[in-house]
Amino acid sequence: MRVLITGCAGFIGSHLCDRFLKEGFEVIGMDNFITGNPDNIAHLIGHPKFKFIHYNVVNYLYVDGPLDLILHFACPASPVDYLNHPIHTMKVDSLGTLNTLGLAKLKSARYVFASSSEVYGDPQVHPQREDYWGYVNPVSVRSVYSEAKRFSEALCMAYWREHKVDVRIARIFNTYGERMRMDDGRVIPTFLSRALKGEPIPVHGDGSQTRSFCYIEDLVDGIFKLSITDHLEGQVINLGNPEEISILDLAKLVLEVTNSDSPIQMLKGREEDPRRRCPDIRKAKELLGWEPKTSLKEGLKKTVEWLKSYLRR
Ligand code: UDP
Ligand code: UDP
Repeated sequence: MRVLITGCAGFIGSHLCDRFLKEGFEVIGMDNFITGNPDNIAHLIGHPKFKFIHYNVVNYLYVDGPLDLILHFACPASPVDYLNHPIHTMKVDSLGTLNTLGLAKLKSARYVFASSSEVYGDPQVHPQREDYWGYVNPVSVRSVYSEAKRFSEALCMAYWREHKVDVRIARIFNTYGERMRMDDGRVIPTFLSRALKGEPIPVHGDGSQTRSFCYIEDLVDGIFKLSITDHLEGQVINLGNPEEISILDLAKLVLEVTNSDSPIQMLKGREEDPRRRCPDIRKAKELLGWEPKTSLKEGLKKTVEWLKSYLRR
């Protein structure tokens, strides 16, 4: 089996490469390093079943030989990153999605799209189920990401309906763990690295906004199952950990697991910051037999161990 993974040098993409190689797949990884990091795939260079192509998926794609599966995971994914690259973000999840779908059609490959809980915007329904349409401002600063994900979902469904490409859409909620970039501005790497350095923990707004955080190994397992399970054409599935926590409580938990006495610093709220996010994962349980196994506390401890060794490098 041969899989193409776009965004292979990213946080989630690189873990997917590891998992598919471990499962015996031949993996072609593609990345242009706009937000990905070559260090994330350095250990794979020279692996007999791994091939890396340095490329921007916004351009016409050429891939030699057969493909059984395409995972489109290329896209700046943290709010700080996509606000720094607004137009590229929109291109990679419009032109990039079009090209990878065109390639899937040509090769008769199955297609998995990395969508996001961001398609739900600032949800008015809680927890979020796949049949909730979302509450999204099409002209907010965050819309470069949310609307591109929504457009990509629509395009996937059009390829399924018109060309019978076997598409599956993963709506991925906040994920954390080894290989996150410390400077990507996301809440967990920021809080952990600040706590380990004894620096203030920056909480935006009043800290009552919530998120639900999934450990990377659990998420990758969900994506793997979504990729290999038959008869899921046209399905949209939430993948995330339904353990919901406020950002202020997350700051306190980080201080506890890092044994840090950093002060908590309250800052101005982010523009259009969603108030609550929590996946309803009944569909994933039913169709994939999947649910996360790692609690937030356990996952944070593992991430801290990795981060300590990373910071020593
Ligand atoms: N495409 C690509 N590589 C391929 C096949 C297609 O990059 O091997 C791109 C191409 O840019 C095309 C898009 O995917 O515009 C959609 O492909 P499809 O064949 O569905 O498009 P059509 O030519 O029918 O518009
Ligand atoms: N956040 C924070 N301090 C930070 C980074 C983020 O308080 O240094 C908050 C942010 O306002 C949001 C939540 O943490 O409410 C999650 O932000 P993140 O950028 O990790 O991802 P999002 O879920 O917004 O895409």
